[in-house]
This record gives sequence, structure tokens and C-alpha cells, in this order.
Amino acid sequence: MRGALPARRRSLFRASGLFDGITGSTSHDSALLVDGGSVVAVAPYRDLRGAADEEHDFGSSVILPGFVDAHTHITIRPGEGDQHGQLRMPSAWQAIRGVRNLADMLSSGVTTARIMSEAHGIDFEFRDAVARGEIAGPRLLVSGFGLSPPGGHGSGEWGVTGPAALRTAVQERVARRADHIKVFMTGGVSSAGSQLTESNYDLAECTAIVTAARQAGISVAAHALGGPGVDIALDAGIHSIEHGTMLTLPQLAAIERAGTWLVLTTSILFAPEAIESGDGQVPQIMDKLLSARSHMRSVVDGMRAVRRLALGTDSMHGMFGREIKWLVEHGWTPSQALLAGTRNGGELISDTRVGVLQPGSFADFVVAPADPLADIDAVRMVSEVYRGGQRMTSAGCVNPAPEDGGSAR
Ligand SMILES: [Zn+2]
Repeated sequence: MRGALPARRRSLFRASGLFDGITGSTSHDSALLVDGGSVVAVAPYRDLRGAADEEHDFGSSVILPGFVDAHTHITIRPGEGDQHGQLRMPSAWQAIRGVRNLADMLSSGVTTARIMSEAHGIDFEFRDAVARGEIAGPRLLVSGFGLSPPGGHGSGEWGVTGPAALRTAVQERVARRADHIKVFMTGGVSSAGSQLTESNYDLAECTAIVTAARQAGISVAAHALGGPGVDIALDAGIHSIEHGTMLTLPQLAAIERAGTWLVLTTSILFAPEAIESGDGQVPQIMDKLLSARSHMRSVVDGMRAVRRLALGTDSMHGMFGREIKWLVEHGWTPSQALLAGTRNGGELISDTRVGVLQPGSFADFVVAPADPLADIDAVRMVSEVYRGGQRMTSAGCVNPAPEDGGSAR
């Protein structure tokens, strides 16, 4: 059956509650009417009863929009260490691991993922394979290999520098239908040779990247922990600051003033099974990890003031619920945290069909055992995942299915 779309049927999904990603609250006894891959209506069950060919009743569970992982990678597993080495492994090795990682993302409720650098052009192939239904995974938006100077964080063996070469590099990615561009503006935690707040590119270089991307109608995301690289990225009109671990309070205020997005990735930083047990075995990296953790905790009040906030697992596949929970543990309301993991992700990628449940949106939704607004742990225990109206998980398996309704962009 692979590659063949099932006959178009209207389906009605009912649960004790529904969080639509718009109002910020959970409505009770609401139902979701789905036709093909899209939502047709969200309304009280009594108004929709009998409108579909089939009905699914999730009982006391709650329906939520599918999660949007706004910053991750397909092939990396941070807990195994040497993330940069993993990026340099042969494409066949990466492809095999990527299939499993995508299944883990999907079964945790991630139905859209923004991929933030892969080698070999493998992310373009994965995006298209998921869309064809060859393999199971979230809808993918991809960047190709991230831009970094030779020897810089994330550069692998493919560093690029200077405005002209960077412009060409952007155009090469656009030619492969990149959904966005990724640039490493600062050093990072998991590379022994970089400092957290060192800057990789000057304003002329960053502006060349942003301008070339804009000409192609796509946005630029900057890996930027802190230091002058953040200020340069903001001056150049960057779309999003990724990680932001070492941001100062004035920089956070500048991000909010500019309407720039901030994408937090807390699992990889704080979870013991992430960098701590991987690259953190290198003493210099462990030192950077500990200082990044303590700095981030010191500016969390400023982070709460940023309205354009989205979340990413940064390769901690299957742990998206933990990203949402971290916000609640650090002062965000459950509603704000849930919106950061759903609607905000759709707004970040400028796709109003993603991260919300309303007429015209993708029928991407998950089923949680309780209302996350009452018990945030429910986001870590999703039992059902639907992408484009098709059930993606059953009896512990993850099913591939072709997209109905086009890619996320
Ligand atoms: Zn990353």
C-alpha cells in the first residue's frame, strides 16, 4: 500500500478536552472533524455528531496540536558523544540511524521538525522520503549543512568564510530547496576548540547571508549562545536566535524589541543523558556545560519576557515533552509552555496550518492522557500521534504514510 493514499474519509475525533493552540485553554467535550489531511471543524461534539464516516472516542484523554520541534537534527545522538564526529560519518551510517531517530521524534508527538544542519545533503533526502511515505517521521523543514568558518563550531570539514563565498553557499542550499538557512554565529558547548561567546562572522558576512536568503524568500536561523555574535545577528536582521544560553538581560530585551524569535533547547543542556554523558566527558566541554547551565538559570526571568519563543530538542529525540516541562519548572504557565511547543513553532516557520487545530490547519494532533494545563507531565506520555489525519503510531510501532496536503512549506 506504500505510496497509495487511502480513500478520502471524514473522521471525527472526540476526547474529554481539546487544546486548540489558539485560545490557550482546554475546551471540554470538543471534537475535531477531519477531512483528508486537514481539519474541517472544531466544535462541541453534539454539533458534529454524525458528520463523519467514522468516529474515534479517546475517552478521558485530551487532544493537543502536534508538537513543533523547532531545532533538531536527524542523525545525531548526543548521549553517544562526539557529535561533530557523528556529523562526519558516512551517509549510509547516518541514514540508518536517522530512520530510528525520526521514529522516536514522531512517537513522542513531534509532527513537524525544523532540522538545523546535516551533512551529505541527507536532510533533503529525509524530508522528501517522509513526504513520500517511504519512512515515518515528522514533516521536515531542512537547511542543508550549517554555515560556519573553517574550524568553527559546527563546521565539520566544510567551513566557509567571506561575504561572497557565503552568498554562494546560501544559493547552493536554495537550489536544493532549503526551507531555511542555518548559520553558526558563535562558538558552542560541544566542541573542544570553541569559546561559548566567541563570534564567527562579522556584520558584512552575516548581512550577506541574510540578504541572499531573503532574496530566495527564506529565513536565517542563527546558532548564537551569547557575546557579540548575537548583536551582529540582530543587526543583520536574523529571523531567530537558537539556544541563547549565554544571552545577557539587555540582549534578551533587544530580541524582544526586534521581534526576533528565540528558540530554547534545554534538554541537551540540562538532561544527564545528553551532553553531560557524551561530549561532556572531555573536561573542557564539561566546564563549558556547567558555566552555560549556571548562566542560563541566571537570566531565565529575561527569557520569560520574550514572547516569540519556540522550543527544540537539539537531537534529544523523543524528549520534546521535557522541553515543555522545563518551561513550567522555570516560571512559565502551562498554557504558555504548551503554546511555545505548538502554535509558536508554526508561527516561527510562517505556516498557519502548523501547531494549531482550526479549520484549514493540518490534522496533526496528539492524544495526552490528561489535561497538560492541570498536569504538565501529560505532554511526555502521548498515546496517539496523527499527522495529516493519519494515525502514525499503533501498538508501539511507528507507521510511514505519505503526506496529504503538501509539505509544511
Ligand atoms: Zn543544534
